[in-house]
This record gives sequence, C-alpha cells and structure tokens, in this order.
Amino acid sequence: MVIKADFAIINAEELVTLKGTSSRPLVGEEMRNLGIIKDGAVAIKDDRIVAVGTTKEVLGKLEKGFEVIDASGKLVTPGLIDPHVHLIFAGSREEELEMMAVKGVSYLEIKERGGGMPTTLKKTGEASTEELLEKTSKILDTMLVHGTTTIEAKSGYEMTFHGEIRQLEIINILNKIHPIDLVPTFLAQGIPFEYENRVDELTREIVEKWIPEIAKRRLAEYCDVFCEKGYFNIEQSRRILETGRKYGMKLRIHADWLVHSGGARLGAELGVVSADHLIFTPMEDIEALVRKGTIGIFLPTTPFCYLGTYAKAREIINKGLPVALATDLSAANMCESMQMMMAIAVLQMKMTTEEALVAATINAAHSIERAYEIGSLEEGKKADIVIFDAPNHKFFPYHYGVNLAEKVFKNGKLVAEKGRRIK
Ligand SMILES: [Zn+2]
Repeated sequence: MVIKADFAIINAEELVTLKGTSSRPLVGEEMRNLGIIKDGAVAIKDDRIVAVGTTKEVLGKLEKGFEVIDASGKLVTPGLIDPHVHLIFAGSREEELEMMAVKGVSYLEIKERGGGMPTTLKKTGEASTEELLEKTSKILDTMLVHGTTTIEAKSGYEMTFHGEIRQLEIINILNKIHPIDLVPTFLAQGIPFEYENRVDELTREIVEKWIPEIAKRRLAEYCDVFCEKGYFNIEQSRRILETGRKYGMKLRIHADWLVHSGGARLGAELGVVSADHLIFTPMEDIEALVRKGTIGIFLPTTPFCYLGTYAKAREIINKGLPVALATDLSAANMCESMQMMMAIAVLQMKMTTEEALVAATINAAHSIERAYEIGSLEEGKKADIVIFDAPNHKFFPYHYGVNLAEKVFKNGKLVAEKGRRIK
C-alpha cells in the first residue's frame, strides 16, 4: 500500500514510539519499555502520523514527493506533556523563593508573614486581561521550545467569582491562539486576604455560585482543589470536588504536598483522575489510589527548590500506581521545562530515564485523558513530535539544564527550532 505524506523524519538514532500504550497507563515494569526503533522514521500527513517504523520500512511505504527531515544521530520522541500547570498569574516571588531555599523559611511561614499566594491573588486580580495574556503567552512559548506540546492549565490565582471565570476564559483563548493544546481546570487554590479564617464561607460561594456558572459556560474540564494545611481542609475539599462532579466536571486533587493532609485518601474515595504531589502520602493511601485507577502526578520542582523531601517514587511505582511528571509551574517558582523534570526525577527521585520519559509522555497523556490522540508515535495519532539533539534518551539526566529540543512539531507543523518559536 502506498501512503501519502507531507514529510518524513528519517534516520533517527532512536525513535521512541511507546507503541501500544494508548488503552491504559503504564505501571511498574511496563514503564521501562519505550518501544524504541533504531534508525527510526515517522511520516506525517496534515496533522497526523501516517507511518512509523525503521527508515527503510517507512520510505518503502511512501508515495514520492514528500519532504525529508534527516534526524541522523538524534533522538525523536512524542511531544512532551505537562499535566499540572498553574498558568495564569501576575507578578513574581523570587525574593520569597530564595528565603525558602537558602534561609529555610517555610512556605506557610511566608504566608503568615503576609507574603506568598495571597499577594499573587491580589496582583493578578489587579492585572488587565491583556497583561495576563501577554505574560502567559511567553510562558507557553518557552514550554513549546522545550518540547512541550500539550499542558493541563489551572485557574486559581484570583479566587473571586469574576476572576476565576476570567482566568478560565484566558485559558480557553490561549488554547485557540497558541500551538500548545491546553486542558482547562478550575482550581480552588488560594485563600484571599479577606477570606482568611473564613474558608467555609469561601467554600460555600464556590459550590453555590462559581462552579455552577463555570459548568454552565463549559469553561473547565476538570475541578481541582488545594487540599492542604492552611488552605482547604478535607471537608471543604470534599464539598468542592463533589460539586464539581455534580456539575459534570472530572476531578483532580492536590494531595499531601506539605503535610499528610489526607488528600490522597479523599482522592481515592472520590475516584479522582489524578492525585498530585503525594509527598507525604502513606503507602496504604497509595494502595487505595491504585484500586481506584487514579494516576499519581509527581511534581519535583518544590522538593528540588526548597522542600527537600520528594515523593517516594520507587516505592510508589513498585506499588503499581501509574505515575506522570509535571512542572507545577506557578508564581512561587517557575520552570517550563519537562526535560528538567525528567532530569530531577532521575537524579533525585531515582526513577529510571525510561520511567521518567513514560511519565512525561504517555502517562501524562492518560492523566488528562488524551492518550487516544497524543503521548506516543503511532499511526493515526496527532503529529506532536520532538527531535532532540541527543543520541539517546539517557541524555535527559546526563546533559541537563540546557534545552536539547532541536525541532518541535505540533499538529504536523514545525513550531520551534533551536530554541526559537516559529510563527
Ligand atoms: Zn499545583
């Protein structure tokens, strides 16, 4: 059979296909198998992948007249997926990050001193929509040039009725105008200054007014909650998530980040799609998540920057929980690079590079329920592909802290090359 293609990437030193992984997330030992094809090739027509195999196999199937992109000596993978991003905010908190990282001042202490998240809520609320669009587009561009082609994007940095709707509208606008695909999540995140010690009242507003309106306007696919000491407690988190579900949203949860808050346990009880952080989660709660088919998302940034304590990745993977990785980019600390997350996952969390790459591609796709169209290089899937200037996937933790992505394709279009956005 002769196949028509617009272009083909050929001669890849390593082509990571992750073939046959679309039906369910990979667990345990399965996370070690990347489906690598040596001297691999992938052909693209319009926005889809039409052929995958060795260079010889693919070239043998294609009708003449396609463009060739030579990937000799390079690594080719599916586009990276970042399934946990606090995307829309104004201002920055670099002074506080240094206080936490160097002086050991805790995240909650910063907030008690009048800093932290409430200051971002205030600044963001005061920013114009144009300012937020501009700042956020820059973040998305940086993600794209580092090889990220799909993200989950959370609201949560205004925490007023109109503010949260505006944040979700901005996410929906960016989804239309930026090459990166954004999956929108309403996150009940911060507590504004005026609601300090009145979180029950805030919760009531969220469940009675915000969520019904967000659902009516179809602005968010997921509902998430910051179930954490100093934020929403278990009962408040339960009310928010149950309301989200009642209004047709699927659920995610911030669980056991700073302390054992019980978030993972609640997540298991409610059958959330993903439970994120899992730093202080006891193993019996991990087992409960496994039974519910939840995906765990590791967010290595805050442990790397200032917490010092990482999720027990080896133990959790051995328990059979499928895991993904994400940047957790936020106003508190910013890193757009999933390459960096893989490096930290290997060097600090003792995941293998194969596990880290699975966590940054197909398992991340499962965690946002998009594995049917992204996360692996297979015929029929979206042509979201990255060519890395690296001979093999082991280079992610080996040659780290720089951008190895040489060419980034989104929906079959070259959108970034050598660190620059192509428009
Ligand atoms: Zn988060």
